[in-house]
Amino acid sequence: MAISGNKNIQRPIGIFGGTFDPVHFGHLRLALELKQFLGLAEVRLLPCHVPPHREAPIATPEQRLLMLKAALGDQSELTIDERELKRDGFSYMFDTLTSLRRDLGTTPLCLIIGSDAFIGLPEWHRWQELIELCHIIVMPRPGWKRIEKSPLNEWMDSRQAISPEALSHSSAGLIIFNEVTQLDISATKIRDLLKKGESPRYLLPDSVLSIIIEQELYK
Ligand code: ATP
Repeated sequence: MAISGNKNIQRPIGIFGGTFDPVHFGHLRLALELKQFLGLAEVRLLPCHVPPHREAPIATPEQRLLMLKAALGDQSELTIDERELKRDGFSYMFDTLTSLRRDLGTTPLCLIIGSDAFIGLPEWHRWQELIELCHIIVMPRPGWKRIEKSPLNEWMDSRQAISPEALSHSSAGLIIFNEVTQLDISATKIRDLLKKGESPRYLLPDSVLSIIIEQELYK
């Protein structure tokens, strides 16, 4: 969709991958803030099937999807992209972005990742090619700092966007750092509370908590 008279300007789509085991207000708040601040057309929450860089989720793909759907309800700013759940094997971001690019043509894509994940980017499958498929939005997490002698440094310095507007002018190729409100919430914390028999209420939507209780998850 063109947002000005210039047909080369398109509102980008944000892609936010995670295990969402379960989805919580930390995820939802940052997705909404980035959508608003960067003028994204939508942010797609993309649950991964088999994460290549961490242990397997506890809830099944179906349960994680059910919780995401319950969390998003009928609002239209945040959406769900189910493509990784439908693909067997490791959920490599390179494959996901290639598939998104095939569907979305030249629409700018913004991959949203925390600075913790960004530091580990050189371990990702075909990491140097990711930037040909999308822009990368890095959310600095507490304690974030540049790691000296990382292959990331030169790679990132030559691609930094000067302003969010630049993201709409090309399909891929830029990196931007964008602060979001730091809510001290993690899925690990929620699972730990449930394991101890304590309530995680107010850290995640009530609709998600109802599913967790009904399906006796994370006990
Ligand atoms: P876990 O505790 O199981 O590792 P998580 O809460 O970090 O889960 P993920 O599904 O792994 O959730 O989230 C995907 C990404 O979301 C993470 O890489 C992280 O950068 C980001 N994220 C998660 N929680 C927050 C938060 N409270 N504030 C900002 N970013 C967050």
